[in-house]
Amino acid sequence: MLFKEITGNSNVKKQLINAVRNNRISHAQLFSGKSGSAKLALALAYAQFLNCKNRTAVDSCGVCSSCLKFNSLSHPDLHLVIPVLKTKKVQRPVSDHFIGQWRNFITNNYYGSLNGWIDSFGTENKLGQQGTIYKDEANNIHKKLSLKNYEADHRVVMIWMPERMNLDVSNKLLKLFEEPPKGTIFLLVTENANQLLPTIISRLQTIKVADFTLEDIIAHFGEQVLSLEKAKQLRNLTNADLGKINQILEDREDEQDLIADFSAWMRLTYKMDVQGISKWVENLSLKGRKQQNLFLSYAIKMVRECLIYNFASSTLLKTNKKEFTFLTKFSPFIHEENSVMITEKLEESIKGINRNANAKILFFELSLQMVKFLRLKRKFAIK
Ligand SMILES: [Zn+2]
Repeated sequence: MLFKEITGNSNVKKQLINAVRNNRISHAQLFSGKSGSAKLALALAYAQFLNCKNRTAVDSCGVCSSCLKFNSLSHPDLHLVIPVLKTKKVQRPVSDHFIGQWRNFITNNYYGSLNGWIDSFGTENKLGQQGTIYKDEANNIHKKLSLKNYEADHRVVMIWMPERMNLDVSNKLLKLFEEPPKGTIFLLVTENANQLLPTIISRLQTIKVADFTLEDIIAHFGEQVLSLEKAKQLRNLTNADLGKINQILEDREDEQDLIADFSAWMRLTYKMDVQGISKWVENLSLKGRKQQNLFLSYAIKMVRECLIYNFASSTLLKTNKKEFTFLTKFSPFIHEENSVMITEKLEESIKGINRNANAKILFFELSLQMVKFLRLKRKFAIK
């Protein structure tokens, strides 16, 4: 995460950047802000900036080996502590059991809340647990910190939602917050500082993260996606929770049912149903430019998901249930021979739409190209 990827909060950013530049790095800090604010994003940007090998005066480089590892939350000196649940499989849970799942959750939505995280367990959370950081976690942290740093100058222990630490953990960690091993800093990220023990709060330097303003929210999504009117509405509705707004906008895209549109198109082109294609083109050309762009970007996404499904692990897929069902049938038609051509043609079409090309002609021509591309045989068998 780069500072520039986070909208608003310029004062906090300045404060964090100056602390690093003046080498006044507090070894235990509390990022406190409401659910859906930039607290985690800021803490991550700060951790990355601290360890960037090539930082500028105001941000991380984003491309050095340290940045790349921080960006994917996989740096060996970034220890993540999160609230977890007891499940059928895991009776004594610690963060490490669920960290892959959390990484997916957070990289999908850096403004996701504790509730969102717990909801992501779905039916696995039969007992309605709210997420806890258990005693075993404290032992784990002690164990990890007894080893030397792998490669970073500043090893970071990030505790997400420390208000979910039970009393045992809190007591076991107090001393560490006060005096961490050399080269280690604690970053705690809370959406409810009131629930933390005063003895903990007093050992931390608090950084208050403000709510996102209307301008921040519009800047985050871009004016094309979010008009002033919509942004106002959503900010009021969610209490300036960017994570929730993300979710609402994503759900809206689902409502538009792009997958139904896309699978219909693929069926028609594969069958070379020219009449059907004409009707489909007619229909799409009546929709606005924004909708057409959305559809084309979606098509690019689905081609990419097909490749992931074919060549990598399906755990990397970012699809919903409907999309996944479609993928299982459609992916054999997308392969190394045609995927690049298809993607290039789709990108070219987006540019065409943006230059006000005639949509009817553009989508008809694109459909004919798709007919051709889908008939290309792959040279090598896979799987
Ligand atoms: Zn860097």
